[in-house]
Amino acid sequence: MLFSSVLVEKNIADEKLVKDILSRLPDSTEKIEIESFEKVFGAVKKPYLQKRENLNLILAHKKGKLVKQAPDAYGLEGSPHYYFVHAYNCIYECEYCYLQGYFNSPDIVIFTNRDEIQNQIIETYNNHKNENEIWFHAGEFSDSLALSHITQECEFYWQVFSKLPKAKLELRTKSANIKALKKLKPQSNVIVSYSLSPEFQLKSYDRKTATYKQRIKCIKELSDLGHPVGLHLDPIIYTPDFKQHYEQLFEDLKVNINLQKLCYISLGVVRFSKDVYAQLEKNYPTSNLHQQNFTTGFDQKKRYSRPLRLWMLNQVKNICLSYDIDPQKVYLCMEE
Ligand code: SF4
Repeated sequence: MLFSSVLVEKNIADEKLVKDILSRLPDSTEKIEIESFEKVFGAVKKPYLQKRENLNLILAHKKGKLVKQAPDAYGLEGSPHYYFVHAYNCIYECEYCYLQGYFNSPDIVIFTNRDEIQNQIIETYNNHKNENEIWFHAGEFSDSLALSHITQECEFYWQVFSKLPKAKLELRTKSANIKALKKLKPQSNVIVSYSLSPEFQLKSYDRKTATYKQRIKCIKELSDLGHPVGLHLDPIIYTPDFKQHYEQLFEDLKVNINLQKLCYISLGVVRFSKDVYAQLEKNYPTSNLHQQNFTTGFDQKKRYSRPLRLWMLNQVKNICLSYDIDPQKVYLCMEE
């Protein structure tokens, strides 16, 4: 069973969406009523890896700001970027995941006050009337598709973004859960972006996610159906032969999709905040990530030295360009 129990805020128990989500969980899932998610979620520290044996789902309303400005270098240059908060945490387990150090608990929270999320997206959109486009990103604190069969959120996004022609929505994912997307008519302003790494790397670090082959199959299926697709080649991790592995990745993509149809490719090198690195040491003490030659910056972040980062990014960028990808479509993620 995916969830040990589902905790529902008392005052939202009668909402249609809450009932719909509950109806998609096995009958045997224990249901518990709670006063408010803030009093439960992370109130007492729950070790990250407890998600393996005891993962709860919390259904709640999130108050306050639900649409937030994205950090610099988050997406394609030249447009404003925002992310919206619709969920916390992820059912997968990537060794480098920054969510390890982010919350006090690995439990999944789904915020069901979608009207407010929608209103804040529209308000933000209206504040940028003079821009040619404005980006919204789902999946800052979760995977955008992993639970979409339970949350039915894709249908919600389709309906919201069909009314916002200058807006773009990015659904970031490592999931093969594309059943909902396959039923929806492709919408030119909703882009599904897959994070992808060379196969050996993905096998070493991405646990429970879709495999390398499954992700490429999903990219192909979505692309064939006419859904706009983007790629995140992130995190790039150094090995002496990493270039050959990225060349192989492009060969594997090339036989499945028309690479020129990709909306964008973002490139990012592995990096850790101090807290996430401490969690990595605790949760994955034998990870190969400990063999990497990281330095600690003035901001306490662990990453490769700047010359090495830029060199690696340029190597992968050159591989993209050698496959005739438009240089305007390749951007460096979170790298000033
Ligand atoms: S898929 Fe993303 S959010 Fe989920 S564990 Fe992996 S890195 Fe974290």
